[in-house]
Amino acid sequence: MRGEKYMEFIPCEICGVTDERELSTRDRDGEYLRTVICKRCGLVYTNPRPEISELREYYEHSYRLDYKGVRQPKKKHIVRAAKVAAERLQEIRGYIFQGMKSLDIGSGGGEVAYAMQLMGLEGSGLEPNEGYADYARNVLRLPIYSGCIENASLPQVSYDIITMYHVIEHLHGPLKALRSLHSSLKTDGLFVVECPNAESRCQAPSHRLHRAHLYNFNMTTLQALGEIAGFHTVRMSLSSDGGNITAIFRKTYSAGVLPDLTHNYQVVMKAWEGHSKMGYYLSKHPYRRFTAKALRIMKEGIVALFTRKGETLLRKNLEKHLLPPSTQKQRRWSYGLAGTFAGIALFISSLWSISSLMDHSEEIRTFIERHQDGNDVFIVVHGNSLKGLSQVPGVVLSQHKKELKTTIAGIMRPNVDIHLLVEDDHLHHIKETIETASLKTMKIISVRGNAYHFLTTETHYGPKL
Ligand SMILES: [Zn+2]
Repeated sequence: MRGEKYMEFIPCEICGVTDERELSTRDRDGEYLRTVICKRCGLVYTNPRPEISELREYYEHSYRLDYKGVRQPKKKHIVRAAKVAAERLQEIRGYIFQGMKSLDIGSGGGEVAYAMQLMGLEGSGLEPNEGYADYARNVLRLPIYSGCIENASLPQVSYDIITMYHVIEHLHGPLKALRSLHSSLKTDGLFVVECPNAESRCQAPSHRLHRAHLYNFNMTTLQALGEIAGFHTVRMSLSSDGGNITAIFRKTYSAGVLPDLTHNYQVVMKAWEGHSKMGYYLSKHPYRRFTAKALRIMKEGIVALFTRKGETLLRKNLEKHLLPPSTQKQRRWSYGLAGTFAGIALFISSLWSISSLMDHSEEIRTFIERHQDGNDVFIVVHGNSLKGLSQVPGVVLSQHKKELKTTIAGIMRPNVDIHLLVEDDHLHHIKETIETASLKTMKIISVRGNAYHFLTTETHYGPKL
């Protein structure tokens, strides 16, 4: 992407106008790159920037080469990618459920999509780099679309969750991309996006600006962009070193109003100017990075030595991070016995499914805890396998259908969202109550065996309050 011929000047992606201040004219390698900040919202971006045709060619053929010097992942990259993918799934564990349809944008070697499949979801990906897409398709047997989010024609209203890790900062039109992903999600579907933090102090001041990053968001600008695209913010968080932002959005049909962000310009300027070279070398960041890197290289080398095949390496590393130790142990046992004692193996695998059921109830618990914002009440109905959830604050247990009507009547207030948690087999018992109660919003999580899914993610029954 060096020596671009076609450059263009652009207004702020969030405000739609040009009201900028120049921050820098050099990238981290000392080459010309003009970076500005919008005085109305604090968005930091490259201006002028290469035209989209230049960028597309770069991502389809050269990008991974620039970064890692390889077109297909090496073993050490697989080990690292597995660890990163596992951490990403841990972060959103309370929001993902078996049977959900997921799509990872910029899926690289397919690690996140593969991890989603390991967790019982229908994982898929979109990747512009041909080498990586082929690897994920052929070696990991994953459904991967080829192309950039900016020119892909994705299916509409199809996904329960879309993830996008370290892609948005590279996009030519991030708002357009978010709107397109919004339309690909089912109602109430989740959009998880992670990118570097413009306020970060993890890197030396001279290393902050990367040629491939057209946009540098902080929490406020990332949240604003999501909300303009029609999303409701579920959670905004920073990584422990402050270097990355993770946003979890939910699909709504809001008008997408631009909030007043003038204060954010001062916030970003302060972070930008307050980050000095001396401050950086006096902080823990450079040394932490150095030791972490040295340790990582050692560990990756050792793990890669003992495993041959790329997929086995990926799966083993993901399982290590994602599955609880008890499950891994049982899995090893059931594999070992299957050859000689088929009957015993069957027994053990039945134990295994019981243990996964318990794990899922833990996930529902996490889901509930994360979703409560004071206006949510969860009612567990007829739930022998869900009884344990009644210990969670905000969860009410209703054992009989008569009791359910009274329970709902007792809880119902304007602005309270009532969610029913019910097992599939018992759904017909309460169908009438569901249809006659005037609930504002009702979410039903259906549970059967060790697989559960959202039956109805958002439904309005009866007159609205
Ligand atoms: Zn702006």
